[in-house]
Amino acid sequence: MKIVKNIQDGLNNLLEIYVDNHTIESVHYRGDTLCVSSQIGCPVRCSFCASGMNGLIRNLSTDEILNQYFLAKEDGLEIRNIAFAGIGEPLLNWNNVKEAFFKFKELGLKVSFYTTGFPLNKFEQLLNLPHNGLTLSLHSVLEEKRKDLIPKGETIQNLLNVFGNHLKNLSNKKRKLYSIAYLLIYNENDSDEEIQKLAQIAKDLNVNVSLLKYNEIEGIPYKTTPDEKYEEVFLKLRKEGIRVTLSNKYRTRKIGGCGTLMINRLQKQSL
Ligand code: SF4
Repeated sequence: MKIVKNIQDGLNNLLEIYVDNHTIESVHYRGDTLCVSSQIGCPVRCSFCASGMNGLIRNLSTDEILNQYFLAKEDGLEIRNIAFAGIGEPLLNWNNVKEAFFKFKELGLKVSFYTTGFPLNKFEQLLNLPHNGLTLSLHSVLEEKRKDLIPKGETIQNLLNVFGNHLKNLSNKKRKLYSIAYLLIYNENDSDEEIQKLAQIAKDLNVNVSLLKYNEIEGIPYKTTPDEKYEEVFLKLRKEGIRVTLSNKYRTRKIGGCGTLMINRLQKQSL
């Protein structure tokens, strides 16, 4: 494995790493966090994501996951946190991801996860790991729509049952480690009814909502939500008493986060 490209945008570093005739990507952001990939390609095939367009090529080995960290460190980047938020669904490469997780922890790193929650039995195991943050990518509150967005996924009902069961015994302090991610796609999942339902879910679970803004990708018909609409949804959730975080700079700059790594590269190529 070796870094073939280190693309800097002033705030972040997008590392293109050559592995076994393929390129995987890791992103260094916020000055101390490395977002790592867990698979080459992704079998979940979310309809809004370029990383899943061609399905899964193969799982990364434990060493290949760890080496993203070692290579980034060798390149001089400071890293205190690891986020499993790059290409791939960590739960679909569970054994290797779990092994890498414990090795990262042995190295004194904080490790957090972004997941679609599929498959459910692995999601339950993940909830019980001594992680430092877990974000469930929900993206829709309607079963049919979520299936369109995340074809290989659990039902919302099952996910919320498992999530709720785990959360109900946690202190408020511990709950702060958990969030729901909602990728706002223009005219797809942003109706008043859906946002109201999202607020209710977040209220019932007593978790934060991470409200993400979709970045358009050539070949995928979804549209970016205009700033005014994004702000309107944010204010609606806030009015309902929900703690909301917005897409941060690294994401709005089209680098970083599950499914946006490859997007960034495709967009660069199409410029
Ligand atoms: S958004 Fe994440 S889970 Fe969905 S296809 Fe892309 S990499 Fe896979």
